[in-house]
Amino acid sequence: MTQTGPGQLTSLQGAGNKLQSGRRQDVYRPKKGWGMPPSHDYDLLVIGSGPAGQRAAIQGAKLDKRVAIVERTSVLGGICVNLGTIPSKTLREAVLELSGYRSREFYGASYTVKQNITMQDLLVRTNKVIQHEIDIARHQLMRNGVELISATASFCGPETVQLDFMDGSTARKVTAHKIVIAVGTDTTRDPQIPLDGRHVFTSDDILKLDRLPRTLSVVGAGVIGCEYASIFAALGVRVTLIDKRNRLLPFVDEEIIDTLCYHLRENRVTLRLNESVQSIDVAEDSDGPGSRVRLHLESGKTIVTEKALYSVGRSGATSRLGLDQCGLACDERGRLVVDEHYRTKLPGVYAVGDVIGFPSLASTSMEQGRLAVCHGFGVSARSVPALFPFGIYSVPEISMVGKTEEELTQAGIAYEVGKARYREIARGQIIGDITGLLKLIFHCETRELLGVHIIGDGASELIHIGQAVLSFGGTIDYFINTVFNYPTLAECYKVAAFDGINRIGTFHEADAADPPAAE
Ligand SMILES: Cc1cc2nc3c(=O)[nH]c(=O)nc-3n(C[C@H](O)[C@H](O)[C@H](O)COP(=O)(O)OP(=O)(O)OC[C@H]3O[C@@H](n4cnc5c(N)ncnc54)[C@H](O)[C@@H]3O)c2cc1C
Repeated sequence: MTQTGPGQLTSLQGAGNKLQSGRRQDVYRPKKGWGMPPSHDYDLLVIGSGPAGQRAAIQGAKLDKRVAIVERTSVLGGICVNLGTIPSKTLREAVLELSGYRSREFYGASYTVKQNITMQDLLVRTNKVIQHEIDIARHQLMRNGVELISATASFCGPETVQLDFMDGSTARKVTAHKIVIAVGTDTTRDPQIPLDGRHVFTSDDILKLDRLPRTLSVVGAGVIGCEYASIFAALGVRVTLIDKRNRLLPFVDEEIIDTLCYHLRENRVTLRLNESVQSIDVAEDSDGPGSRVRLHLESGKTIVTEKALYSVGRSGATSRLGLDQCGLACDERGRLVVDEHYRTKLPGVYAVGDVIGFPSLASTSMEQGRLAVCHGFGVSARSVPALFPFGIYSVPEISMVGKTEEELTQAGIAYEVGKARYREIARGQIIGDITGLLKLIFHCETRELLGVHIIGDGASELIHIGQAVLSFGGTIDYFINTVFNYPTLAECYKVAAFDGINRIGTFHEADAADPPAAE
């Protein structure tokens, strides 16, 4: 066991929303092996308090282990709670509500709930939700007896980690039987791009905009770029979305992307695809408000805009980990390689969440954290199923699970599709979403469900019905033979299933009932 130095560890007592620093306290007791001095300071040390780290720590505590979680910033929750998922999704909700966007189908394109929406209006809701999520995370960890440490962790050896405390002058070494690296990612920075957080933003600081710009350029049409572009466009900001690829989100069904592009254009988004940004400069005006960002494209075009969001990807946050001290290495994007149990090549050291790359979702990160710890302590658990949904919170929302038409065509699998438009469904009319689309992809002969793709209100909730049927290897007959609440969007599943059966023209006896609207 390493010697305890004078360093300060975070106390669980009296913690507010921030991690508190104080003298080290013996806040945990070894729950096993009373009377025997433990060979390590902890059974499990988790580095990073995002979704992956939190789940790992709580799983360790549930297994009755002595667990600590180390977080380098002053708040719990990681990128997910503080800068990424939760802020962007709450912002979206605030925008849709205050702008009256969802009701424009009934009251006209100029309808709004609040005139002159400001960043402050939008941030009231965002900040409240963030605070709440931090509180919940802290309480969960405390209830489970996880020690919270506010420090930057770096390796000194395979089982030893140095903790550099936030005051910058104290440090301490600790040992652990198992270490889980859950450090997430940092925004990728390019020295050519002046990311000043005043004119040119990353997704980490875009919510620090002091006011809503009239024009915004978004560089990078990945999930985050598309989400923010469509959210700001829904507010009436004139957005230009630039990407070097020739289509948005290539992993999403093409028909769904066509619908997204239709909506983006309807909201006056200019799409600049097949275009690369060579450089960006800021033409400052002495008194501020007149400053302009100029984006110079490789094609020779220059886009002049009030603000820019640079969203070209994230890299594993491994640079502070001292990986060379323990014999680990990362790839060129800072990511760690793991096996199917999330083991790095060092026995006892696991890596989970965004730091291991694809799929880089909060949902999968949590599950990876749990599974890694189960494996580390010899508890059997299933690995993350290959079948997980994607939720893209653009306006409109997109969600998908299973295969796309493109993938099935490449694999030579004979499939058919069945579609339901929200406008065919009473609920679609009621909520005023008449462009939503749910698309089922199924095997031509066996009718086995192979994929579900949705664009429209509630897509990321609705997807789970399809996910359940897919997970159990079900066929589209399930939707035909099931009664759904009326009027709901879930009815789309039934209409799409009938539409699909119409297309293959092989009705089973059980299908003899009148198909609803898709006939
Ligand atoms: C704008 C945006 C929107 C997103 N939207 C969604 C969405 O809608 N749905 C979804 O599923 N996912 C979404 N994501 C992705 C999601 O946020 C990530 O998948 C998730 O946060 C990954 O969790 P993690 O625990 O691996 O890492 P993180 O959440 O990044 O947490 C890592 C933590 O480790 C800490 N840390 C780093 N280095 C050290 C160190 N050396 N010592 C101590 N602590 C350290 C960091 O400070 C951080 O708190 C979004 C991401 C962004 C950026």
